[in-house]
Amino acid sequence: MKRQPLTELAHRRLAARLRPGDWVVDATAGNGHDTLFLARTVSPGGRVFAFDVQCRALAATRRRLQAADPDATVTLIRAGHQRMARHLPTAARGRLAAVMFNLGYLPGADKSLVTRPDTTLAALTTAAEWLAPGGLLSILAYRHHPGGADETAAVTRWLDDLAGWRIERHASPGPLWLLAQRPHE
Ligand code: SAH
Repeated sequence: MKRQPLTELAHRRLAARLRPGDWVVDATAGNGHDTLFLARTVSPGGRVFAFDVQCRALAATRRRLQAADPDATVTLIRAGHQRMARHLPTAARGRLAAVMFNLGYLPGADKSLVTRPDTTLAALTTAAEWLAPGGLLSILAYRHHPGGADETAAVTRWLDDLAGWRIERHASPGPLWLLAQRPHE
């Protein structure tokens, strides 16, 4: 069987659940691959909120979106994802169909600027609260950069405490992909 990168698996699995018109969050815009994927998948009529702390990440994301021009409303937000609740419209609470995280550092940029366990867990906690019933939390976690193993361990422990959620773990020599589905109440 051909080995499939976990990023592609994440896209395939989310695409199977998301619908045009859905509202979704990219918690780590990075170079914009997930933001564009989400925008295409919820087009037409959907909304994407994409967070990053680095201007260059949001600039790369903006360029990628402009080239593809998906028919969704995309809001790029320069703020830490741990502040998500302050930046999302209140109408988004309980109606997010998916929140994606791609942790670690921005490829090609400063490798010391990484996501960190405390802010990642704070963002995951808000994301879990704001997801719609049946909504998906997708997390790509990396273990091979400084701090990566600790962050990955913190995220997996946090997932273990989510009562009633359906959790999937997919390992690879590189990242770990974690998918968590909020219960349908
Ligand atoms: N490791 C992945 C890419 C991850 S990009 C790969 O190799 O493909 C991770 C992004 O998260 C970076 O652009 C970084 O700027 C951003 N980031 C770091 N801390 C953040 C925070 N608190 N909130 C939002 N984004 C953050």
